[in-house]
Amino acid sequence: MQKDILDSSLYAAIVINTPLNKVFHYLVPLAMHDKITIGKRVRVYFGKRKLIGFCVGFSNQIDYDITKVKPIVEIIDENPLLSSDMLAWTNWISNYYGCAWGQVLDSALPSAVKKRKRPLKKKLPPELSAEIVKEKNQNLILNLHQNTAVKSIISAVNQQKYKTFLLHGVTGSGKTEVYIKAIEEVVKIGKQAIVLVPEIALTPQTVKRFASRFENIAVMHSDLTTAQRANEWQQVYQNNADVIIGARSCIFAPTSRLGIIIIDEEHETSFKQDEAPRYHARDCAIKRAYQENAIVVLGSATPSLESFYNAQIGKYTLLELPERVSHRPLPKVNIIDMREQFKQFKRMTIISKPLEDAMHKVLMRNEQIILFLNRRGYATSANCPQCGYTAKCKACEVSLTYHKREDKLICHYCGFSIMAPNNCPDCFLPGIKFSGYGTQRVEEAVKMLFPDKTVTRIDSDITIKRNRCEEILNDFGSGNIDILIGTQMIAKGLDFANVTLVGVIAADGALHLPDFRASEKTFSLVSQVAGRAGRGEKGGSVIVQATLPDHYSIKCVATHDYISFAKNELETRKLFSYPPFSRLLRVVVRGPNEDKTRAFIKDIHNKINALDVVKRGVLLDFTPCPIAKLRTDFRFHFVFKSPGVSIIQQIINEYSDILKSKSDMYVAVDVDPISML
Ligand SMILES: [Zn+2]
Ligand SMILES: [Zn+2]
Repeated sequence: MQKDILDSSLYAAIVINTPLNKVFHYLVPLAMHDKITIGKRVRVYFGKRKLIGFCVGFSNQIDYDITKVKPIVEIIDENPLLSSDMLAWTNWISNYYGCAWGQVLDSALPSAVKKRKRPLKKKLPPELSAEIVKEKNQNLILNLHQNTAVKSIISAVNQQKYKTFLLHGVTGSGKTEVYIKAIEEVVKIGKQAIVLVPEIALTPQTVKRFASRFENIAVMHSDLTTAQRANEWQQVYQNNADVIIGARSCIFAPTSRLGIIIIDEEHETSFKQDEAPRYHARDCAIKRAYQENAIVVLGSATPSLESFYNAQIGKYTLLELPERVSHRPLPKVNIIDMREQFKQFKRMTIISKPLEDAMHKVLMRNEQIILFLNRRGYATSANCPQCGYTAKCKACEVSLTYHKREDKLICHYCGFSIMAPNNCPDCFLPGIKFSGYGTQRVEEAVKMLFPDKTVTRIDSDITIKRNRCEEILNDFGSGNIDILIGTQMIAKGLDFANVTLVGVIAADGALHLPDFRASEKTFSLVSQVAGRAGRGEKGGSVIVQATLPDHYSIKCVATHDYISFAKNELETRKLFSYPPFSRLLRVVVRGPNEDKTRAFIKDIHNKINALDVVKRGVLLDFTPCPIAKLRTDFRFHFVFKSPGVSIIQQIINEYSDILKSKSDMYVAVDVDPISML
């Protein structure tokens, strides 16, 4: 939209960060006419408060009482912070996900950029500066499959026309090298690359590889200080970065000559934000690339079912890397039936006999082991065998986890903690029993079995300390740790040649969750962890302990057979019309009063049910959420299965009044939800 300076009454359309998805109009004072442009921030009165908003357009007339229109107080930026492409795209995000445009724009900028006016000097994040020069390795030779993939991507890059590739490569197949080669071409023709990784702190090796191969790289890192983050953002904004690497929010990087977006581990659920704006970085990336004629590469060893399906129906182009680099074999996977172990030893074991034996052999050869369990803490529940009491969080409807070191019961959802009681709080008898196990207990068991070995645990209890994660991984890389025990923090991206054994302690722990993606999450997580084994010349093996060894998500891990898993899973999804055969809208209502919250969701559900458009899909009944109470709020939800996303858009945009929060009750609208808890 162009401003027309011939007319003296100029109105600016301003987007303000409020939950209301509305554009407000303000009068542009004459003195500001030649300074204001779209994409700049302005200060305006909103009620009695002075707030900051983005200018997104102009008009010479407005259709309401002009005497009520307030003037803009101040223009904040000398240059626009956001381009018109960026504004159009963020507006799409707000309409797609049914959230306020102002909220999306707010997420697009790092907080320090919003506060600071002065640009900072270039300074590389500390973890990248030291080792870069010596990690340099420019001439890796690609194998046939990598070469074919690179050629296809480069040809698309040179055509400069939107296209999405799904790069399905087994663990250790050299996906990163494919990304790097493609980006080199992008940089050569003067364009930029955005590389999204699930969580930077957990993928330091990947980040370093990129940093060693490109001159002008910006890193958007959650561990950076706010000033460093603003600095990296400025580098991109001032057109000084060719490659921008970061987690989810890096998709908002203000590139002006975007050529390619790489999404590594595209199946990762952390690409979806679980608070408003509830955007999925992968899907937003595809829209952004489409708009800017860029290429998207989605990479994974275990693609999401949505992406796999899109490749099957021809929406994406499938590229496959079926072999590991240097003809290294995939690790041999043995499944241990833990029910048999129980029968044989008449007790629950954490480390099965076959796993223990395998560990002995590996340690004798001075090789390293990764043990994986996706539960932190010592014991997952505390019960009284006398009266049946179970320790639960008062604020959340979940069992408390016992942490032995602190001797505390802790809620993993809200952080509430109490000292572990000696006597039952209900019947006062002694003998509280701790059952189920987490990483702390695995650590204890392993230390008893291998007292002279160095055993280290890595989970979010440990890495709460800044840089601790990197320290541990460095130690492990230099061989100072024999056995590393961890949660999903160790599932991604780690590449240590001396790891020849991976043990998955309880592979099917998440299969019983009330979530239609439970099988997919299990398959991909266990496959990813298994993929940490045998990446070097020594080869390696994996031992997977399971109580449901015959489940297809476990069996397909053993044979490294993603395709069979995906086909099996797609059949199930089709049968129950879950994505990718439908699109979902999930509405969650929470509030402090159970009855009022239930009445409120019932009212919303009735109104939605009465809409004609809803008859084209399936509206499921409302129920308490699987986590029925969280941080003192009661939670209810319902799901609408829609044949297409346009019906969902119509509901959330045309009937947004129905979905409005009320007094102390909050309505969360989630399009394409990932979490169903
Ligand atoms: Zn009791
Ligand atoms: Zn809690």
